[in-house]
Amino acid sequence: MMWGDKRYRSFNYEMKKTFKSKVIKLSLDGGFTCPNRDGTLGKRGCIFCGEEGSGEFAASRCLDIREQIESQKKLLSKKWDTGKYIAYFQNFTNTYSTYEDLKQKYYSAISQEGVVGLAIATRPDCLSENVMDLLEEINKKTFFWVELGLQTIHERTAKFIRRGYSLDCYDEAVRQLNKRNIKVATHLIFGLPNESREDILSSVKYVAATNTWGVKFHLLYIQKGTDLYESFKKSPFHILSKEEYISLIVDGIEYLPPDMVIHRLTGDGKRTLLVEPLWSLDKLRVLSEIDMELRRRDSYQGIKKVY
Ligand code: SF4
Repeated sequence: MMWGDKRYRSFNYEMKKTFKSKVIKLSLDGGFTCPNRDGTLGKRGCIFCGEEGSGEFAASRCLDIREQIESQKKLLSKKWDTGKYIAYFQNFTNTYSTYEDLKQKYYSAISQEGVVGLAIATRPDCLSENVMDLLEEINKKTFFWVELGLQTIHERTAKFIRRGYSLDCYDEAVRQLNKRNIKVATHLIFGLPNESREDILSSVKYVAATNTWGVKFHLLYIQKGTDLYESFKKSPFHILSKEEYISLIVDGIEYLPPDMVIHRLTGDGKRTLLVEPLWSLDKLRVLSEIDMELRRRDSYQGIKKVY
C-alpha cells in the first residue's frame, strides 16, 4: 500500500489529492487564551505548555488576521509558492471567546486571497452549542477541520499533565463534531512521563477506532520555561531515544485505518528552548528513518487492523 511515495497517508498527500497542488498552512494567533491558563480551570496550563502557548511558530498576535495572513504568506512564499493556503488557528484555545469575536476572525481568515481551508485547534471542553453551530456553518463554506489535543487516553497521565478534561469529554466532542460532518484531527503525545510502550499504543488504538479524520503524533519536548522542565529537573523520567520513538511511530502507523490522514509524525521544538530530546532537532532524519523502518518491515498504514 502506497500513498504517493509514502507508506502512510500523509497530510501533504491528502492536500495534493484534494487541491491538486501543495497547500501551505499559515499559523495564526487569534489572540485567544485558554481556560487552563486564565484561572477558569487553572493558571499554569498543561505542564508542557510554554508562555507562548502551543503555537510558538504562529504569526504575531499584535497583527489582525488579514495582516497575519499577509505576513505568513510573505515569509513562506520564499520556500513554496503554490498560492493555496490553509488558515490555521493554532495558538491557545481557538474556540474560547465570544461568538461574535470567533465569527469575525474565522470569516476574516477564509475570505483572504488564496485561503482554501481553515483549521482550528481547541479543547473538547470549549465547544458549546453555539460554537458548534458556528463551526457547522463554516464547514459548509470551506474545507475545514477541528484539532483536539487529547495527548493520552490514560487518566493518570492526563492528571499529571493537567489537561483538565476527561476522556468522556473528548468522546462526546468527537460524537458531536461527527454528527455535524466536521472533520476532526486528534493530537497524541509520545513519551509522556511514566507511560509504557503499551500505554502509548493503546492511546493510538483508541484514536484509530474513533472515526476521526486525522491524527497528529507529537514527541514530548522538555522545553525551558515550562513546569515540565522544573518537574523533570527534580525527578527525571525516561526520555524516548530516537530508535524507541521511530519504532513506536511505525507501530502506531500500522494501527491506523488506511483512510486516516497523518498530519504529523514528529514536531518542531524551538532550538533555543529545547532541553530534551535533542535528537529531535534533526526532523528530516527522523522522518527518513521512519520511512526506512516501514520499508524494513515491509509494512504500511493499516496493516494491523484494530478499528
Ligand atoms: S490546552 Fe493547549 S493552550 Fe491550554 S494550557 Fe494546554 S497546551 Fe496550553
